[in-house]
Amino acid sequence: MAIQLYNTLTRKKETFVPLEEGKVKMYVCGPTVYNYIHIGNARPAIVYDTVRRYFEYRGYDVKYVSNFTDVDDKLIRAAQSLGEDVPTIADRFINAYFEDVQALGCKKADVHPRVMENMNIIIDFISQLVEKGYAYESEGDVYFRTRSFDEYGKLSHQSIDELRVGARIEPGNKKQDDLDFALWKAAKPGEIYWESPWGPGRPGWHIECSAMAKKYLGDTIDIHAGGQDLTFPHHENEIAQSEALTGKTFANYWMHNGYININNEKMSKSLGNFVLVHDIIKQHNPQVVRFFMLSVHYRNPINYSEELLESSKAAFERLMTSYQNLKHRREASTNLTHDNQEWLDKIVALREQFIEAMDDDFNTALAISVLFDLAKLANYYLLEKNTAVEVIDAFLAEFNELFHVLGLTLKQDEMLDEEIDALIEKRNQARKERNFQLADQIRDTLKEMNIILEDTPQGTRWKRG
Ligand SMILES: [Zn+2]
Repeated sequence: MAIQLYNTLTRKKETFVPLEEGKVKMYVCGPTVYNYIHIGNARPAIVYDTVRRYFEYRGYDVKYVSNFTDVDDKLIRAAQSLGEDVPTIADRFINAYFEDVQALGCKKADVHPRVMENMNIIIDFISQLVEKGYAYESEGDVYFRTRSFDEYGKLSHQSIDELRVGARIEPGNKKQDDLDFALWKAAKPGEIYWESPWGPGRPGWHIECSAMAKKYLGDTIDIHAGGQDLTFPHHENEIAQSEALTGKTFANYWMHNGYININNEKMSKSLGNFVLVHDIIKQHNPQVVRFFMLSVHYRNPINYSEELLESSKAAFERLMTSYQNLKHRREASTNLTHDNQEWLDKIVALREQFIEAMDDDFNTALAISVLFDLAKLANYYLLEKNTAVEVIDAFLAEFNELFHVLGLTLKQDEMLDEEIDALIEKRNQARKERNFQLADQIRDTLKEMNIILEDTPQGTRWKRG
């Protein structure tokens, strides 16, 4: 079966068909780096990292781009109140972001483009929109002429006339129409600025994603993703800018993850209930935080509370205990066999169920329930005093493989030498069968366990890093 995913654009689950065989081009809107990220920002990082890992698991070569908004009003205000400059603040919180999301098991994107480093292409993008008549300059600002893009509203499923209700031009407004949005903002005195054909200023927020997605992934991409709150106006505006410029479809699939509530309340500045990742990962195992997030389908809302996190921790530990028990039995394992094939078949059947769950719009909640079935099966195997090395190794390998797909690691304890040897054997077999995807995946799994492989003419050697 092929991977199915829910496309916000069509409001349907669709079969994923890549632009180019075996490849996925994916763009995920990243954070504005003026503070530490809160738990709401961590959700898209974890969700789309898992989507990426799953595509890789299924043999796709994924190019993953996620931006940093490193100049905007919030950064300028933060700089003013702290008496620092904008780039210093951006650098600090980009580093903090990497620390936080790496702790949560997220891999780095292939490219993390920054606005400041892409000013030329952003200005060029805006200039072309002006030339084509989709945008206009007004007293040093540049605005997108929203009504000039016929399909405006197609992502958020609203007609432009609905949007016009109540819209009127405020006095002092530089827009020709209230629906127009800023592509470029003239600098106010004392603000950071870049020179442009329209005078000194900086880009509006939406344009950066259109310009950087085009630069790093091309005119049309497979998947564009972000939080549900970005659907309108951010993603709607990105579509208008990009499709007006290129005349091509910007993204074939749009994915949006649900909100996070804190103790059943919306997270908001005024309620003072912001939970920073920086703080929770000091109190809780970051793996448990990731596990908690993945235990809910990405499109559903999540309620975050200390109690729910604690119950996730208990659940996570049940899986760990099962894995640990297998490892203990591994030490006392034998070559005796007892219904081995039957057990091996059951393990394979569970892997197939896991794949089926993930193929169905990345249903991690269901995939995690399969992990519990695997643990149950393993517990039962051990309870029956079975000791076949072949079966125990298959259980251990399955745990490692499925945890890895979800970005979870079992590295709390060291891998046994025999387990490493078994994985290397599996990798060599995969290479012989020219299944390089699986081979690379095993290498990555080992790398995460701090095992370094060295391929020599005499065979593969390994050492602990
Ligand atoms: Zn964006």
